[in-house]
Amino acid sequence: MIRDEKVFDLIAQERARQMNSIVLIASENFVSYQFLEAMGSVMTNKYAEGYPGKRYYGGCQIVDQTEQLAIDRAKELFNAEWANVQPHSGAQANMAVLMAVLKPGDVFMGLDLSHGGHLSHGSPVNSSGILYRTVAYRVEAETGLINYDKMEETALRERPKLIIAGASAYSRDWDYARMRKIADQIHAILMADIAHPAGLIAKGLLNDPLKHCHIVTTTTHKTLRGPRGGMIMIGKDFENPWGLKTLKGETKMMSALLDSAVFPGVQGGPLEHVIASKAVAFGEALTETYMNYVIQVKKNAAVMSQAFVDKGYHVISGGTDNHLMLIDLRSKFPEITGKVVENTLVKADITVNKNMVPFDSRSPFQTSGLRVGTPAITTRGFKEDKMPVIVDLIDQVISKIDSEEVILAVKKKVNELMRDYPLFAD
Ligand SMILES: *Cc1c(COP(=O)(O)O)cnc(C)c1O
Repeated sequence: MIRDEKVFDLIAQERARQMNSIVLIASENFVSYQFLEAMGSVMTNKYAEGYPGKRYYGGCQIVDQTEQLAIDRAKELFNAEWANVQPHSGAQANMAVLMAVLKPGDVFMGLDLSHGGHLSHGSPVNSSGILYRTVAYRVEAETGLINYDKMEETALRERPKLIIAGASAYSRDWDYARMRKIADQIHAILMADIAHPAGLIAKGLLNDPLKHCHIVTTTTHKTLRGPRGGMIMIGKDFENPWGLKTLKGETKMMSALLDSAVFPGVQGGPLEHVIASKAVAFGEALTETYMNYVIQVKKNAAVMSQAFVDKGYHVISGGTDNHLMLIDLRSKFPEITGKVVENTLVKADITVNKNMVPFDSRSPFQTSGLRVGTPAITTRGFKEDKMPVIVDLIDQVISKIDSEEVILAVKKKVNELMRDYPLFAD
């Protein structure tokens, strides 16, 4: 067969772009070569609808073993009672939970999207907001912190059947125990979506949601540093506490409800090549090397956030407990939008993403904020001493936002810097 040079040329260009730039997108990371090998393997050829030992296709004896290995390692890593590693993405993991726990039209509660929540937590353009009724809790304007008292008030008034903890742009830890107390009062299911901080949670650097939440969902490609995908877990002793029933009126174990919600509920055949790569990721995350990695991610984020503060930027909530921070540009540059900064930094080979800040005066397309995270640069080998250097490069670009000269000078420095941090160190 003739090799498709057009596509492979684009892949080579993308690889060069990744190698040469400082990636500060909080949800991105770099996988090592063996993950690519697993994802690019013959496992992609196999149909395996169903679960290990209970498939709708013959010839699953090997993929049964990789999927079981992924499940066993995930359970060990998070100390979970049960796991489903088939969700194609974090959003699909969430969609499956909503399907398992709610009936169309039921109410659930999540963090307001403009305060750091995720599209799949009830946005009107996502199935979660179209099929179900959503109520939101928010952060406080002065502190940037979630107000659990107000969350409780809203929950008692609106009586959601499901409460979701977790966010895409919240730099502080979560009080899962407090949320569980709120959920118990109204017989709601408590779910944590740990798509972002999963790796830090797995290694004990943040509060453990599996001790308190009935269900935990995550992605596998953010701090977990595995292939792009999702996963659902159950912690200890949380099998269907409120006797949820299926649409047919049967009461089942929570794990059975969730399994059927993933397949055949929202997905068809699992991506066994990605699941093989997830097994590699969970295996790696069980090592001491990975422990050191997440410790460095957190250290880098703390130092970077202080460096932004030192340059006169307002960091929402004053800092970070995890791997990311949200910067309100209005404190230093009231006229410059997140959109302009994102686009200008890309020209200097620095990638960040524009983000709404709580109580933003601008639209989601403009925004007044930036979301910045350290997982990707930490994988490249950056230690905390380089964080002020990176912040200074960013500040140089924003301070002279219209200067092509500054952009080029910074880009040159960025490319030089990245040469010392190879993409495939192994
Ligand atoms: C990233 C993210 C997701 C979605 O993950 P995808 O794999 O992009 O679907 C879900 N929830 C939260 C909180 C996230 O940050």
